[in-house]
Parts: sequence; C-alpha cells; structure tokens
Amino acid sequence: MKFLVTEDCGRLARWLRLLGFDAVWIRDAPVTECYRRAYNERRVIVTRNRRLRASDLFHVVHLTSATLEEQLRQLVNDLKLALDDERLFTRCDRCNVPVKPIEKTAVKDRIPPYVFEHQAQFYTCPSCQRIYWAATHWDRVKQLLARVNPAPRPNGRGRGENPSGHCAIPPRPDPALSRKGGASVGRGESAKRANRLTGHA
Ligand SMILES: [Zn+2]
Repeated sequence: MKFLVTEDCGRLARWLRLLGFDAVWIRDAPVTECYRRAYNERRVIVTRNRRLRASDLFHVVHLTSATLEEQLRQLVNDLKLALDDERLFTRCDRCNVPVKPIEKTAVKDRIPPYVFEHQAQFYTCPSCQRIYWAATHWDRVKQLLARVNPAPRPNGRGRGENPSGHCAIPPRPDPALSRKGGASVGRGESAKRANRLTGHA
C-alpha cells in the first residue's frame, strides 16, 4: 500500500517510511495535484484537510487526531494496515526510497569508530547517501507499534483483524538508521524527533 500524505501530517509520513511504506509528502500543492498523483500512482491520501474529498478513483483517510500514535492506530484500523516487521527500516525516511546493503569497509570513514566496531550490517540510501545501521532506540519503535497494533491474544480475540496485521518484533538486532557523518539531518521538531527515534547523533 502506498500513501500520499499531505502537508499537515509530515511526521506521520516519515514514520510510514520507517515502517517500510512508500509515502510521499506533499507540500504547497493544490488539491487537484493531490488527486492526480493519488490516482496515477495508486496512493491512499492521508490528510487532516477536510477539503480533500473521497472519490471512486482513490481512497482518502481523514485523520481525526493530531498525535502520531492515534494517527497510526487509525490507519491500522481503517485500512487493515499490516505492519510487517520485515519491512521496518527498509526505506530512507528522508527520501522515501529503499535503502540498500553496503559493505562495512565502504563506510568506515563515514561513521563513528564505535559504530564501526560494534555493528555488522550497514545500509545506504541511493539518493541521499546516508548510512543506516542498528540503533539503540529500537525499543521505542517496538513499544509504539505494540501500542498501535498489539498482537492478537492467544484466544484469538486480539485487535488483529488482518491476519498479518500484528507486529511481531523479532528478538534480533534490527537495522535503524543514522546519517552520513557530520551532515545536516534536517530542521524542525519532526526531524529532532526522528533523530531521537533512530539514534542519530
Ligand atoms: Zn535518503
């Protein structure tokens, strides 16, 4: 499932990317451009803007909350959205493109020595060249996802109407992301939050 997220939901757009979804973030665009792109690219429009209307040609989710957790919960419930742990951190949260594995030796000069010493797997964004590796704030991601979409209880009466919709976080080192050493990673509160989330310096 692909998304078109409007200007008022930028933090959600980045989180959808962290969760592995293709999510474009539209800013300063007329409503008709949102419609055109949603239709042409088969994207679900996610917005808090009531001027955006549903259509037979594309789906619109009007978010009712301003908080990230509630917004994710609404998407999971309204769209039966599957939060697949295999897709977590597979996409650059800045560029919305899939990251690719990169040899450890190729990033040695671009990451802190401690990271090089303790991490085995690295990924890079082919667009912005940022380097991704396992971060220490992964638990925060797990905790949020568990609150948004808890796994079904053993008696099968959990929230997970979608059979693959529960978030089964594996007990393994998980890739998170970091940035190319020394580079600016963005401005504003959403960027700061993302940095905390992903263990950026
Ligand atoms: Zn990127």
